[in-house]
Amino acid sequence: MTLEENVSLAPYSTIRLGGTARYLTKVTSENEVIEAISFAKSNNLPSIMIGGGSNSFFKDGLFEGLVLVNKIAGINISQLDQTYILSIGAGEIWDNVVLESTKQGLSGIECLSLIPGSAGGGPVQNIGAYGQEIADTFLYLEAIDKTTSKKIQIDKLSAKFSYRDSIFKHDQNRYFITKIVLGLKKSSLEPPFYNSLAEYLKINNITDYSPGSIRNAVINLRNQKLPNPKDFYNLGSFFKNPIVSEGDLKVLKNSFGDIPNWELPDGRYKLSAAWLIDKAGFRNFHDIETGMYTWKSQPLVLVNELANSVNDLLKFRDKIVLRIEQEFNITLEQEPIILA
Ligand code: NAP
Repeated sequence: MTLEENVSLAPYSTIRLGGTARYLTKVTSENEVIEAISFAKSNNLPSIMIGGGSNSFFKDGLFEGLVLVNKIAGINISQLDQTYILSIGAGEIWDNVVLESTKQGLSGIECLSLIPGSAGGGPVQNIGAYGQEIADTFLYLEAIDKTTSKKIQIDKLSAKFSYRDSIFKHDQNRYFITKIVLGLKKSSLEPPFYNSLAEYLKINNITDYSPGSIRNAVINLRNQKLPNPKDFYNLGSFFKNPIVSEGDLKVLKNSFGDIPNWELPDGRYKLSAAWLIDKAGFRNFHDIETGMYTWKSQPLVLVNELANSVNDLLKFRDKIVLRIEQEFNITLEQEPIILA
Protein backbone atom coordinates (compact mmCIF):
# COMPACT_ATOMS: atom_id res chain seq x y z
CA MET A 1 0.00 0.00 0.00
CA THR A 2 1.38 3.40 -0.99
CA LEU A 3 0.23 6.27 1.18
CA GLU A 4 0.14 9.89 0.08
CA GLU A 5 -0.22 12.64 2.67
CA ASN A 6 -2.08 15.97 2.59
CA VAL A 7 -3.58 15.44 -0.84
CA SER A 8 -5.85 17.95 -2.55
CA LEU A 9 -9.19 16.26 -3.28
CA ALA A 10 -10.34 18.57 -6.08
CA PRO A 11 -8.74 16.36 -8.80
CA TYR A 12 -10.74 13.42 -7.41
CA SER A 13 -14.13 14.96 -8.19
CA THR A 14 -15.23 15.96 -11.70
CA ILE A 15 -16.54 19.26 -10.24
CA ARG A 16 -12.88 19.98 -9.31
CA LEU A 17 -13.70 21.35 -5.86
CA GLY A 18 -13.13 20.00 -2.35
CA GLY A 19 -10.68 20.10 0.53
CA THR A 20 -7.64 18.04 1.46
CA ALA A 21 -7.21 14.46 2.68
CA ARG A 22 -4.77 13.70 5.48
CA TYR A 23 -4.04 10.35 3.75
CA LEU A 24 -4.89 8.89 0.35
CA THR A 25 -4.10 5.52 -1.21
CA LYS A 26 -4.90 3.92 -4.57
CA VAL A 27 -6.07 0.34 -4.13
CA THR A 28 -5.74 -2.27 -6.88
CA SER A 29 -6.85 -5.45 -5.07
CA GLU A 30 -9.08 -6.72 -2.27
CA ASN A 31 -6.01 -7.28 -0.11
CA GLU A 32 -4.98 -3.67 -0.47
CA VAL A 33 -8.47 -2.61 0.60
CA ILE A 34 -8.19 -4.78 3.72
CA GLU A 35 -4.70 -3.40 4.40
CA ALA A 36 -5.96 0.19 4.04
CA ILE A 37 -8.90 -0.45 6.40
CA SER A 38 -6.50 -1.94 8.92
CA PHE A 39 -4.21 1.12 8.69
CA ALA A 40 -7.19 3.44 9.25
CA LYS A 41 -8.52 1.40 12.18
CA SER A 42 -5.16 1.16 13.93
CA ASN A 43 -4.69 4.93 13.60
CA ASN A 44 -8.27 5.68 14.67
CA LEU A 45 -9.03 7.39 11.37
CA PRO A 46 -12.25 7.38 9.35
CA SER A 47 -11.91 5.92 5.84
CA ILE A 48 -13.84 6.55 2.62
CA MET A 49 -13.67 4.88 -0.78
CA ILE A 50 -14.15 6.77 -4.03
CA GLY A 51 -14.21 5.73 -7.69
CA GLY A 52 -14.25 8.16 -10.61
CA GLY A 53 -15.61 11.07 -8.55
CA SER A 54 -18.26 11.83 -11.15
CA ASN A 55 -21.13 11.77 -8.67
CA SER A 56 -19.44 12.73 -5.42
CA PHE A 57 -17.44 15.53 -3.89
CA PHE A 58 -15.67 16.27 -0.62
CA LYS A 59 -16.47 19.22 1.63
CA ASP A 60 -14.00 22.08 1.93
CA GLY A 61 -11.32 21.85 4.64
CA LEU A 62 -9.24 18.97 5.95
CA PHE A 63 -10.56 15.41 5.95
CA GLU A 64 -8.62 13.95 8.87
CA GLY A 65 -8.85 10.39 7.55
CA LEU A 66 -7.92 8.00 4.74
CA VAL A 67 -9.34 8.13 1.20
CA LEU A 68 -9.16 4.92 -0.83
CA VAL A 69 -9.25 5.48 -4.59
CA ASN A 70 -10.59 2.34 -6.24
CA LYS A 71 -8.37 1.16 -9.10
CA ILE A 72 -9.34 -2.52 -9.06
CA ALA A 73 -9.35 -3.58 -12.73
CA GLY A 74 -10.57 -6.47 -14.86
CA ILE A 75 -13.55 -7.42 -17.02
CA ASN A 76 -14.31 -11.12 -17.27
CA ILE A 77 -17.15 -12.53 -19.41
CA SER A 78 -18.53 -16.06 -18.98
CA GLN A 79 -21.73 -17.74 -20.15
CA LEU A 80 -24.45 -19.53 -18.20
CA ASP A 81 -27.25 -20.77 -20.51
CA GLN A 82 -28.52 -17.66 -22.33
CA THR A 83 -26.99 -15.21 -19.86
CA TYR A 84 -23.56 -13.65 -20.27
CA ILE A 85 -22.07 -12.91 -16.89
CA LEU A 86 -19.79 -9.90 -16.61
CA SER A 87 -17.53 -9.80 -13.55
CA ILE A 88 -16.09 -6.33 -13.36
CA GLY A 89 -13.39 -4.86 -11.13
CA ALA A 90 -15.03 -1.91 -9.39
CA GLY A 91 -12.26 0.47 -10.47
CA GLU A 92 -12.83 -0.10 -14.19
CA ILE A 93 -14.01 2.92 -16.16
CA TRP A 94 -17.74 2.31 -16.60
CA ASP A 95 -17.85 3.28 -20.25
CA ASN A 96 -15.11 0.73 -21.07
CA VAL A 97 -17.43 -1.91 -19.63
CA VAL A 98 -20.29 -0.78 -21.90
CA LEU A 99 -17.93 -0.69 -24.89
CA GLU A 100 -16.70 -4.21 -24.21
CA SER A 101 -20.24 -5.58 -23.76
CA THR A 102 -21.59 -3.98 -26.94
CA LYS A 103 -18.57 -5.26 -28.90
CA GLN A 104 -19.74 -8.76 -27.90
CA GLY A 105 -23.31 -7.92 -29.04
CA LEU A 106 -24.60 -7.95 -25.47
CA SER A 107 -27.67 -5.95 -24.51
CA GLY A 108 -28.68 -4.55 -21.12
CA ILE A 109 -26.40 -1.58 -20.49
CA GLU A 110 -26.02 -0.02 -23.98
CA CYS A 111 -28.17 3.01 -23.00
CA LEU A 112 -25.76 3.65 -20.14
CA SER A 113 -22.99 4.52 -22.62
CA LEU A 114 -20.72 7.46 -21.82
CA ILE A 115 -21.89 7.81 -18.23
CA PRO A 116 -18.72 9.01 -16.51
CA GLY A 117 -17.27 7.29 -13.46
CA SER A 118 -16.19 3.85 -12.34
CA ALA A 119 -18.05 0.55 -12.50
CA GLY A 120 -18.24 0.42 -8.70
CA GLY A 121 -20.07 3.74 -8.67
CA GLY A 122 -22.82 2.31 -10.91
CA PRO A 123 -24.80 0.46 -8.23
CA VAL A 124 -24.26 3.20 -5.64
CA GLN A 125 -26.59 5.61 -7.38
CA ASN A 126 -28.23 2.99 -9.62
CA ILE A 127 -27.05 4.83 -12.75
CA GLY A 128 -29.79 5.25 -15.34
CA ALA A 129 -30.38 6.72 -18.76
CA TYR A 130 -32.93 6.42 -21.57
CA GLY A 131 -35.06 3.97 -19.60
CA GLN A 132 -32.29 1.54 -18.59
CA GLU A 133 -30.74 1.36 -15.14
CA ILE A 134 -27.98 -0.82 -13.76
CA ALA A 135 -30.47 -2.55 -11.43
CA ASP A 136 -32.07 -4.19 -14.52
CA THR A 137 -29.01 -6.39 -15.15
CA PHE A 138 -27.39 -6.43 -11.69
CA LEU A 139 -26.80 -9.89 -10.20
CA TYR A 140 -24.64 -9.17 -7.17
CA LEU A 141 -21.56 -7.33 -6.01
CA GLU A 142 -18.62 -8.10 -3.81
CA ALA A 143 -17.42 -5.70 -1.16
CA ILE A 144 -15.25 -5.51 1.90
CA ASP A 145 -17.46 -4.75 4.87
CA LYS A 146 -15.54 -2.12 6.79
CA THR A 147 -17.07 -3.07 10.11
CA THR A 148 -15.65 -6.62 9.94
CA SER A 149 -12.90 -6.24 7.27
CA LYS A 150 -14.44 -9.33 5.62
CA LYS A 151 -15.45 -9.91 1.99
CA ILE A 152 -19.21 -10.16 1.47
CA GLN A 153 -21.64 -10.59 -1.44
CA ILE A 154 -24.72 -8.40 -1.76
CA ASP A 155 -27.46 -9.46 -4.17
CA LYS A 156 -30.02 -7.37 -6.00
CA LEU A 157 -32.75 -7.67 -3.40
CA SER A 158 -30.46 -6.64 -0.55
CA ALA A 159 -29.13 -3.70 -2.60
CA LYS A 160 -32.65 -2.13 -2.42
CA PHE A 161 -32.37 -0.32 -5.73
CA SER A 162 -34.78 2.48 -6.54
CA TYR A 163 -34.67 5.62 -8.70
CA ARG A 164 -30.97 6.70 -8.59
CA ASP A 165 -30.67 5.09 -5.19
CA SER A 166 -29.47 1.99 -3.29
CA ILE A 167 -28.30 1.00 0.19
CA PHE A 168 -24.73 1.85 -0.86
CA LYS A 169 -25.65 5.49 -1.28
CA HIS A 170 -26.85 5.72 2.31
CA ASP A 171 -24.37 3.38 3.96
CA GLN A 172 -21.57 4.17 1.58
CA ASN A 173 -18.91 4.30 4.25
CA ARG A 174 -19.57 0.71 5.21
CA TYR A 175 -19.22 -1.28 1.97
CA PHE A 176 -16.06 -0.88 -0.08
CA ILE A 177 -17.20 -2.32 -3.41
CA THR A 178 -14.52 -4.41 -5.13
CA LYS A 179 -16.43 -6.19 -7.91
CA ILE A 180 -19.81 -5.94 -9.62
CA VAL A 181 -21.49 -8.78 -11.51
CA LEU A 182 -24.06 -8.21 -14.26
CA GLY A 183 -26.10 -10.58 -16.44
CA LEU A 184 -26.57 -9.55 -20.09
CA LYS A 185 -28.24 -11.15 -23.11
CA LYS A 186 -27.33 -11.44 -26.79
CA SER A 187 -30.34 -9.48 -28.03
CA SER A 188 -31.49 -6.05 -29.19
CA LEU A 189 -33.75 -3.47 -27.60
CA GLU A 190 -37.12 -2.84 -29.17
CA PRO A 191 -39.22 0.32 -29.43
CA PRO A 192 -40.77 2.26 -27.82
CA PHE A 193 -37.64 4.17 -26.84
CA TYR A 194 -37.30 7.24 -24.62
CA ASN A 195 -38.58 10.32 -26.46
CA SER A 196 -35.17 11.87 -27.12
CA LEU A 197 -33.61 8.59 -28.25
CA ALA A 198 -36.62 7.73 -30.44
CA GLU A 199 -36.42 11.16 -32.06
CA TYR A 200 -32.68 10.77 -32.74
CA LEU A 201 -33.17 7.34 -34.31
CA LYS A 202 -36.02 8.66 -36.47
CA ILE A 203 -34.21 11.79 -37.68
CA ASN A 204 -31.15 9.73 -38.57
CA ASN A 205 -33.14 6.89 -40.18
CA ILE A 206 -31.63 4.35 -37.80
CA THR A 207 -33.56 1.08 -37.66
CA ASP A 208 -30.66 -1.03 -36.39
CA TYR A 209 -31.35 -1.39 -32.67
CA SER A 210 -28.38 -3.68 -31.96
CA PRO A 211 -26.37 -2.85 -28.80
CA GLY A 212 -23.56 -1.26 -30.83
CA SER A 213 -25.93 0.90 -32.84
CA ILE A 214 -27.85 2.10 -29.76
CA ARG A 215 -24.53 2.81 -28.03
CA ASN A 216 -23.48 5.04 -30.94
CA ALA A 217 -26.82 6.87 -30.85
CA VAL A 218 -26.59 7.44 -27.09
CA ILE A 219 -23.00 8.69 -27.39
CA ASN A 220 -23.99 11.16 -30.11
CA LEU A 221 -27.01 12.34 -28.13
CA ARG A 222 -25.03 12.83 -24.94
CA ASN A 223 -22.25 14.65 -26.79
CA GLN A 224 -24.83 17.01 -28.30
CA LYS A 225 -26.54 17.77 -25.02
CA LEU A 226 -24.19 17.28 -22.10
CA PRO A 227 -20.87 18.94 -21.21
CA ASN A 228 -17.78 16.75 -21.13
CA PRO A 229 -16.62 16.86 -17.49
CA LYS A 230 -12.99 17.04 -18.66
CA ASP A 231 -13.62 20.43 -20.27
CA PHE A 232 -16.53 21.74 -18.18
CA TYR A 233 -16.30 20.65 -14.56
CA ASN A 234 -19.62 19.09 -13.53
CA LEU A 235 -21.25 16.16 -11.74
CA GLY A 236 -23.94 15.22 -14.28
CA SER A 237 -27.51 15.80 -13.16
CA PHE A 238 -27.31 17.68 -9.88
CA PHE A 239 -30.95 17.05 -8.93
CA LYS A 240 -33.23 14.04 -9.08
CA ASN A 241 -36.49 14.27 -10.98
CA PRO A 242 -39.15 14.95 -8.32
CA ILE A 243 -41.98 12.49 -7.80
CA VAL A 244 -45.41 13.83 -6.84
CA SER A 245 -48.89 12.49 -6.08
CA GLU A 246 -51.74 12.67 -8.61
CA GLY A 247 -53.36 15.39 -6.47
CA ASP A 248 -50.22 17.52 -6.46
CA LEU A 249 -49.86 17.09 -10.22
CA LYS A 250 -53.45 18.32 -10.71
CA VAL A 251 -52.66 21.46 -8.71
CA LEU A 252 -49.51 22.07 -10.74
CA LYS A 253 -51.39 21.54 -14.02
CA ASN A 254 -53.81 24.33 -13.07
CA SER A 255 -50.95 26.82 -13.29
CA PHE A 256 -48.62 25.00 -15.70
CA GLY A 257 -50.76 23.09 -18.21
CA ASP A 258 -47.71 21.96 -20.21
CA ILE A 259 -45.75 20.47 -17.29
CA PRO A 260 -44.10 17.23 -18.51
CA ASN A 261 -44.94 14.20 -16.38
CA TRP A 262 -44.67 10.42 -16.51
CA GLU A 263 -46.90 8.04 -14.57
CA LEU A 264 -45.00 5.55 -12.39
CA PRO A 265 -46.11 1.99 -11.60
CA ASP A 266 -47.12 3.09 -8.08
CA GLY A 267 -49.60 5.67 -9.43
CA ARG A 268 -47.44 8.70 -8.64
CA TYR A 269 -45.91 10.96 -11.28
CA LYS A 270 -42.31 11.80 -12.18
CA LEU A 271 -41.67 15.40 -13.19
CA SER A 272 -38.71 16.78 -15.12
CA ALA A 273 -36.35 18.68 -12.81
CA ALA A 274 -34.71 20.18 -15.92
CA TRP A 275 -38.05 21.62 -17.06
CA LEU A 276 -38.71 23.18 -13.63
CA ILE A 277 -35.23 24.75 -13.53
CA ASP A 278 -35.60 26.02 -17.08
CA LYS A 279 -39.06 27.45 -16.38
CA ALA A 280 -37.68 29.21 -13.28
CA GLY A 281 -35.20 31.04 -15.52
CA PHE A 282 -32.06 29.09 -14.72
CA ARG A 283 -31.02 27.81 -18.17
CA ASN A 284 -27.49 28.96 -19.01
CA PHE A 285 -27.64 31.12 -15.88
CA HIS A 286 -24.18 32.42 -14.92
CA ASP A 287 -24.07 33.30 -11.23
CA ILE A 288 -21.43 35.96 -10.65
CA GLU A 289 -21.51 35.54 -6.87
CA THR A 290 -20.52 31.86 -6.92
CA GLY A 291 -18.76 31.35 -10.28
CA MET A 292 -21.21 28.56 -11.12
CA TYR A 293 -23.63 28.21 -14.04
CA THR A 294 -26.28 25.90 -15.47
CA TRP A 295 -25.51 24.16 -18.76
CA LYS A 296 -27.22 25.69 -21.80
CA SER A 297 -28.82 22.54 -23.20
CA GLN A 298 -29.39 20.72 -19.89
CA PRO A 299 -29.90 23.04 -16.90
CA LEU A 300 -29.85 20.07 -14.52
CA VAL A 301 -26.08 20.14 -14.90
CA LEU A 302 -24.30 22.68 -12.68
CA VAL A 303 -20.91 23.73 -14.06
CA ASN A 304 -17.97 25.08 -12.10
CA GLU A 305 -16.60 27.97 -14.12
CA LEU A 306 -14.87 30.14 -11.52
CA ALA A 307 -15.98 28.73 -8.18
CA ASN A 308 -13.44 28.84 -5.37
CA SER A 309 -14.91 26.27 -3.03
CA VAL A 310 -17.60 23.69 -2.40
CA ASN A 311 -19.34 26.43 -0.46
CA ASP A 312 -19.87 28.29 -3.76
CA LEU A 313 -21.40 25.18 -5.32
CA LEU A 314 -23.73 24.69 -2.35
CA LYS A 315 -24.74 28.36 -2.38
CA PHE A 316 -25.66 28.07 -6.05
CA ARG A 317 -27.56 24.84 -5.36
CA ASP A 318 -29.52 26.54 -2.59
CA LYS A 319 -30.46 29.47 -4.85
CA ILE A 320 -31.97 27.05 -7.37
CA VAL A 321 -33.73 24.96 -4.72
CA LEU A 322 -35.24 28.08 -3.14
CA ARG A 323 -36.51 29.45 -6.47
CA ILE A 324 -38.13 26.11 -7.40
CA GLU A 325 -39.79 25.96 -3.98
CA GLN A 326 -41.14 29.48 -4.43
CA GLU A 327 -42.44 28.87 -7.97
CA PHE A 328 -43.68 25.27 -7.79
CA ASN A 329 -43.81 24.33 -4.09
CA ILE A 330 -41.45 21.44 -4.86
CA THR A 331 -38.17 20.75 -3.04
CA LEU A 332 -35.50 19.43 -5.38
CA GLU A 333 -33.34 16.65 -4.02
CA GLN A 334 -29.60 16.57 -4.67
CA GLU A 335 -28.28 13.58 -6.63
CA PRO A 336 -24.48 13.62 -6.02
CA ILE A 337 -23.09 12.46 -2.70
CA ILE A 338 -21.26 14.79 -0.32
CA LEU A 339 -18.34 12.92 1.26
CA ALA A 340 -16.80 13.46 4.71
P1 NAP B 1 -34.29 13.55 -22.02
O1 NAP B 1 -34.16 12.27 -22.78
O2 NAP B 1 -34.35 14.83 -22.74
O3 NAP B 1 -35.52 13.45 -21.05
C1 NAP B 1 -35.82 14.54 -20.15
C2 NAP B 1 -36.39 13.96 -18.89
O4 NAP B 1 -37.60 13.33 -19.21
C3 NAP B 1 -35.48 12.93 -18.28
O5 NAP B 1 -35.22 13.38 -16.99
C4 NAP B 1 -36.25 11.64 -18.31
O6 NAP B 1 -36.33 11.00 -17.04
C5 NAP B 1 -37.66 12.03 -18.69
N1 NAP B 1 -38.22 11.14 -19.73
C6 NAP B 1 -38.06 11.25 -21.07
N2 NAP B 1 -38.75 10.29 -21.71
C7 NAP B 1 -39.33 9.53 -20.75
C8 NAP B 1 -40.16 8.38 -20.78
N3 NAP B 1 -40.52 7.80 -21.92
N4 NAP B 1 -40.55 7.85 -19.61
C9 NAP B 1 -40.18 8.39 -18.46
N5 NAP B 1 -39.39 9.50 -18.36
C10 NAP B 1 -38.97 10.06 -19.49
O7 NAP B 1 -33.12 13.61 -20.93
P2 NAP B 1 -31.58 13.97 -21.09
O8 NAP B 1 -31.24 15.06 -20.16
O9 NAP B 1 -31.18 14.08 -22.52
O10 NAP B 1 -30.92 12.66 -20.50
C11 NAP B 1 -31.09 11.42 -21.15
C12 NAP B 1 -31.05 10.30 -20.14
O11 NAP B 1 -29.77 10.27 -19.50
C13 NAP B 1 -32.10 10.47 -19.05
O12 NAP B 1 -32.60 9.21 -18.75
C14 NAP B 1 -31.29 11.03 -17.89
O13 NAP B 1 -31.81 10.67 -16.64
C15 NAP B 1 -29.93 10.40 -18.11
N6 NAP B 1 -28.89 11.25 -17.53
C16 NAP B 1 -28.54 11.06 -16.23
C17 NAP B 1 -27.59 11.88 -15.67
C18 NAP B 1 -27.17 11.71 -14.24
O14 NAP B 1 -26.20 12.35 -13.83
N7 NAP B 1 -27.86 10.96 -13.46
C19 NAP B 1 -26.98 12.87 -16.42
C20 NAP B 1 -27.38 13.04 -17.73
C21 NAP B 1 -28.34 12.22 -18.27
P3 NAP B 1 -35.14 10.16 -16.34
O15 NAP B 1 -34.08 11.15 -15.96
O16 NAP B 1 -35.81 9.60 -15.13
O17 NAP B 1 -34.65 9.11 -17.26
